[in-house]
Amino acid sequence: MPKTISIIGGGPSGCTLAILLVRKGHKVILFNEKNPSEIFVGESMIPALMPILQELGIEDKVKEFSVYKPGASVWIDEKTMAEASFGGGMGTLPTYAYNTNRKKFDELLLETAKNEGVHVVDSKAELYRENDKVFLAETTILATKGLLTKQPDFIVDASGRKRILSNLLKLPTTKGQRMDTALFAHVEEREFSENYGDIHMHLATKGWCWRIPLPGKTSVGVVVNKEEMAKYGNSLEEQFDNYLQQAPKLKPFFKDVKRIGGIQKYSNYQLQSNRIIGENWALIGDAAGFLDPVFSSGLYFSMKYASELAKVFDEEGSLTLKDFQENWSKELNSWKKMIEIWYNGRLFTNYKMGSDRLDGFIGKKIGQHAIKHFTAIFTGEAVNDKYSMRLLKFMTGPLLDFMRFTRMHRYDVKDLEL
Ligand SMILES: Cc1cc2nc3c(=O)[nH]c(=O)nc-3n(C[C@H](O)[C@H](O)[C@H](O)COP(=O)(O)OP(=O)(O)OC[C@H]3O[C@@H](n4cnc5c(N)ncnc54)[C@H](O)[C@@H]3O)c2cc1C
Repeated sequence: MPKTISIIGGGPSGCTLAILLVRKGHKVILFNEKNPSEIFVGESMIPALMPILQELGIEDKVKEFSVYKPGASVWIDEKTMAEASFGGGMGTLPTYAYNTNRKKFDELLLETAKNEGVHVVDSKAELYRENDKVFLAETTILATKGLLTKQPDFIVDASGRKRILSNLLKLPTTKGQRMDTALFAHVEEREFSENYGDIHMHLATKGWCWRIPLPGKTSVGVVVNKEEMAKYGNSLEEQFDNYLQQAPKLKPFFKDVKRIGGIQKYSNYQLQSNRIIGENWALIGDAAGFLDPVFSSGLYFSMKYASELAKVFDEEGSLTLKDFQENWSKELNSWKKMIEIWYNGRLFTNYKMGSDRLDGFIGKKIGQHAIKHFTAIFTGEAVNDKYSMRLLKFMTGPLLDFMRFTRMHRYDVKDLEL
């Protein structure tokens, strides 16, 4: 039976769900409060997002305003760079992704939704609750100009960091351990002499930074411990510029960086709702939870679980709401593990230890095996694969400790802790 579904928020998660639901014959009313910002974070994609862009039928258009991304390059220090090419995984996903103009990406998604028959209402939605059920406010129903004359059958919160439903229902949340500040700006195009198209990341002092090549400009962001950041100045401009130009591992790369436009600040973004479904509602995208920018997984994770939620509304009912929540939570935990080993120094200590041994027979065999699985995890291909995840945990956990204990390597994970 076709249902009437209201979605709050016309970002990537809301539009993905809206498009897929309307294709299944449901009536979809998408409320979208315009975001006044000219710059948006969320510009770098991972390969696991490609099948979703293809399913939505937008990949060719995305390509027009994006830079082809073949992998990721991480500078552990000024001289040591680790490159992961997306071609090194298991072979079930495209071996590329894109770095995109987020404004154009969001506009394209919204335009596609409209063309497919989603009713887009350009206004802010307001809700109220009765126990665990949620309803659109009378003024919000009126704003649809007759599209809705009564309450919809189901309401989805895709409002991003506004998290309107979680706040209304006072849903319990889990906060991440990192209390970093992320400062972000566009700068004049930088030369990417090495691995053009890759996202470039640099480990730095109590934090890290990204460089993302975009058409005609470069996106630069720094993600740094709050107290550390305060040492670099009072204003956002001072902190951003000084950190890039003074932090020892960054200095050589950002000598004459020139910002274009303003700086955006994000903080306390590691937050997830412990419950993302209810009697007549569900949460998707950042409204359900956001972990960390480090592996560029935000768009993929938001859009993937928007597409999973659409399956709950299949005629065959191929997924229950409970399955949807369980799958989301399981995958979220895998990403959490990956984020943990980035910040606690274990991922790159493992890389250094492995690099020392790649020439030997055993090192070569184990090394190639691990690289394949690790690459597949970070592209999103094997993030739900038990064996790959166990291998990652083992090699960056007990194996690393055992080899240090038996003096088979000399690295201290603390040296690369951020
Ligand atoms: C520092 C940082 C860097 C990041 N970098 C990356 C990256 O490189 N790659 C990546 O994939 N992800 C990245 N992300 C994450 C990514 O930006 C988000 O995961 C993604 O934007 C989530 O999409 P969404 O649709 O859930 O929410 P949003 O994109 O926030 O969209 C929500 C929409 O809802 C609208 N809205 C809000 N309230 C209402 C209301 N009451 N009524 C109507 N409309 C409303 C808003 O105006 C907005 O348009 C980064 C995040 C951070 C914090």
